Amino acid sequence: MQLSALGKKLTARTGIVELMDDLGSALNENPDMIFMGGGNPARLPSLEEAFKKQLQAVAGDAERLHSMVGIYQSPLGDLDFRSYIAAYLTKKYGWELSAKNIAVANGGQSAFFALYNMFAGPTEDGTHRTIHLPLAPEYIGYRDLGMADDIFSATRPVIDKIGDTRFKYRVDFNHLKAVENVAALAVSRPTNPTGNVLTNEEVAKISGMALERDVPLILDGAYGLPFPNIIFSEAEAFWNDNTILVLSLSKLGLPGVRTGIIVGSEQLVEAYANFNTIASLACGGTGPAMTKDWFRTGEIDTLTSRHVAPFYRERSLTVQALIKEELKGLPFRMHLSEGAIFLWMWFEDMPISAQQLYERLKKRSVLVVPGQNFFVGLEDDWHHQHECIRLSYAQDQKTIRQGIKILAEEVSVVYSEC
Ligand code: PLP
Repeated sequence: MQLSALGKKLTARTGIVELMDDLGSALNENPDMIFMGGGNPARLPSLEEAFKKQLQAVAGDAERLHSMVGIYQSPLGDLDFRSYIAAYLTKKYGWELSAKNIAVANGGQSAFFALYNMFAGPTEDGTHRTIHLPLAPEYIGYRDLGMADDIFSATRPVIDKIGDTRFKYRVDFNHLKAVENVAALAVSRPTNPTGNVLTNEEVAKISGMALERDVPLILDGAYGLPFPNIIFSEAEAFWNDNTILVLSLSKLGLPGVRTGIIVGSEQLVEAYANFNTIASLACGGTGPAMTKDWFRTGEIDTLTSRHVAPFYRERSLTVQALIKEELKGLPFRMHLSEGAIFLWMWFEDMPISAQQLYERLKKRSVLVVPGQNFFVGLEDDWHHQHECIRLSYAQDQKTIRQGIKILAEEVSVVYSEC
């Protein structure tokens, strides 16, 4: 194959490709694998029941079925869905929104591909501008999204060690203030991979910096507010006309419908729609058709607050307790678990790299994600990135218990070998 330079870049075996490969083979081809790798959400029976009901209602109504599968949606996506989302957010938070502020995407990932490339890279005046991540580590899926090279830059966090087994990253605002040639500031809240949730003050401050620089703040709410609401700390939803909030139906339990939602200014939403039409022609209708009633009625809040948030909160606590028990006496720290579906572990001064630990665990049929993949946009080879791994706690508890036992055994061997 004679590929173009861009073709080579976009077909390379990158971290996210390896991660999704592991995920695909673990979930589809090798079910004995202990899967604590990718970001697949948990199976929640009450949510599955709700999905079934909605699908049956749509399938039983010829017009709704036709609208879901038989027509191309308009470039911005299903109008009812967009109107209900706008009304829901306006009622809940007082944000002044109409359907013109909402666009549908084929998953959050595809929204980020469009948004990051809309803003970052070489500009017409020859400056190279980046999507700046105020707090690395960040979502591995951003890493290879740029059609231009080097579209990310990032600020290293300040690390607060808490007690013997915890830590938390905080935004280093002094560094952030000094960065140059920024096209947009972007952050996931809760953060994948760490489970960190930026405080309300941190978000307000970052938003202020974005406004001062006249660049947008892109907030990735894949796990956040208002849905799926996998947040365990005190956090308020955030949006203003200079913010692009990207939501997704995936972590509710619907990654297969590939529905992302962009909340932005009318000008941004219109520009995005043109990009998306070129790239995708139109968005899928299944996610909007299945869920629009929940936004019209507010049922979405009941589903998330009764079934989604409590499940993950409890699971996080259980798995943290398991880790403390199994890894007792070993030199590890866990990032404070404030949201999302992962635990982020730090093995300070580990004698092998996180990549080597990942490979050793994979040989024993345990999948985790090595940390270095998440330090998107950091130029230097910070040793810390080779000391961390990400564990998902979304799969069933028995499997996770086994996985953590094996992790403890391997880590114990690794430290005893040195
Ligand atoms: N943002 C974050 C932080 C994620 O973890 C993910 C997926 O895992 C996405 C965005 C993209 O999700 P999707 O394309 O399924 O909406």
